[in-house]
Amino acid sequence: MLTLKNWNKSYKENHVLKDIDLTVGTGDVLTIIGSSGSGKSTLLRSINFLEPADSGTIQIGALTRDVQTTTKADILAIRRQTAMVFQNYALFSKKTVKENVMEALVAVKKMPVKKAKVLAEEQLERVGMADRMDFYPNKLSGGQQQRVGIARVLAIQPEVILFDEPTSALDPELVAGILELIKGIAHQQTTMIMVTHEMKFAKEVSDQIIFLDQGRILEQGTPEELFFHTKEERTKQFIQGFQ
Ligand code: ATP
Ligand code: MG
Repeated sequence: MLTLKNWNKSYKENHVLKDIDLTVGTGDVLTIIGSSGSGKSTLLRSINFLEPADSGTIQIGALTRDVQTTTKADILAIRRQTAMVFQNYALFSKKTVKENVMEALVAVKKMPVKKAKVLAEEQLERVGMADRMDFYPNKLSGGQQQRVGIARVLAIQPEVILFDEPTSALDPELVAGILELIKGIAHQQTTMIMVTHEMKFAKEVSDQIIFLDQGRILEQGTPEELFFHTKEERTKQFIQGFQ
């Protein structure tokens, strides 16, 4: 489970996240939609302290912290429980597929190499990359690289997976395969927060959808509520832009 309360972040005078309050239940999928610049990536990046928020509280599992008083140890603990899938895959180019998946297990989780290898192989099989484990990322398609990105977070077994537009850099013919993969791992034990412009997918996979508008949650609800009983004019306009 993850909860944010009164979550705020500014870049100088640009108030990017404004009093965000949200809760995602364990194993649920929360999708964030909104225009470019509305703060979606900043919100995800603030959750794992890549870009710390300025004020607010965060609760992940048993851990509750006020951002203003978090220690380095708190931030490490939060990072161990949150893992991000990036739009551009963000794989290490000098490491093989398997080494990419092993990296965080060995470096952050302090797992013995042998155990990390077994876990990496299991997760790579799960995402359909069993026959590419010793390849380097530049020998893979975008879709294959994103599969590795997903295997990497699955191996970490975080409490929460953060997906930032995981398919928006892919060629159109590769998008469906990655969306299917994400659907297949959703609604198991891991909580997911996802930014996507794939509205059909968001409708199918999400328990809750948030429409972020200029850093504020303008509207929130189930896919049914947000898409078929839309309350706010701005949300309507945004959704219509995808139809
Ligand atoms: P997109 O759909 O284009 O990815 P987004 O909703 O993810 O957009 P963010 O990247 O979160 O938007 O950016 C929100 C605002 O914060 C923008 O005004 C942006 O210029 C600003 N911003 C983001 N990152 C930084 C940064 N590192 N330094 C300064 N300003 C930033
Ligand atoms: Mg973004």
